[in-house]
Amino acid sequence: MLQRKFDQVVKRHYPNAMDAKDTSIHYLGKMQNEHGINISKVLMATSVCSDDINVPSTTFFNVLFGPFIMGGLGGLPFAGETGMTAFAHHIPDAGSAFIFYGPHIGITLEGDLGKMYRPRQEETGNSCGALMLALSRFQDGEYKPVINENDYQQMKLEESLLPSREQIINSDNQQKAITDATYEVIDKKIHDYLRTCKNEFNVEKVAILGGVIINTDYGLDDYFDARNFDVIDIKSL
Ligand SMILES: [Zn+2]
Repeated sequence: MLQRKFDQVVKRHYPNAMDAKDTSIHYLGKMQNEHGINISKVLMATSVCSDDINVPSTTFFNVLFGPFIMGGLGGLPFAGETGMTAFAHHIPDAGSAFIFYGPHIGITLEGDLGKMYRPRQEETGNSCGALMLALSRFQDGEYKPVINENDYQQMKLEESLLPSREQIINSDNQQKAITDATYEVIDKKIHDYLRTCKNEFNVEKVAILGGVIINTDYGLDDYFDARNFDVIDIKSL
């Protein structure tokens, strides 16, 4: 019952979102049937936020090898070009690669975005915590992140979102807007690293799936709003 209610609430904000199981069946099916990828030889990399709440969402693809974890706070691929190179070197012989990436956002049954009920907590908490922290700091127009080795990921995340600050603050739904802006940052970095590391891949095809993970209540399926699915001929980049 609750799952069905969440389905309506999620689709009000993200009409194209699919639940975890539908997402995995849909995209694994496409990889296999439309692109001739042998699913039993696919290594997955993820670039999603470190948050514990995302662990179940990356297991929607748990028939694949991996994951190689590229993501840090907010879902940015902090493992960088070295991480992408290592991932490329770990792909099974005559296998394929799959990269699943994107930010996450919580939702409550009341339809509030950026919040969720976490396991065994009475009150709602922020999700994504890193993005909601960045958003609260961006409310101050004078705020500038200072790169600091003891809070490196958060500062770099905020720095990469700073060019979108005005657009985020002026949006009708700031929580959704900062999440969408983060998706764009991650998507660009994944493409940049694939291009710079293309000669490290011993395979022809790299499948990528990017979008926004939507966290519902604990124990219920998460949702995924796909923004980009592509099977890239890696040597043509
Ligand atoms: Zn997060």
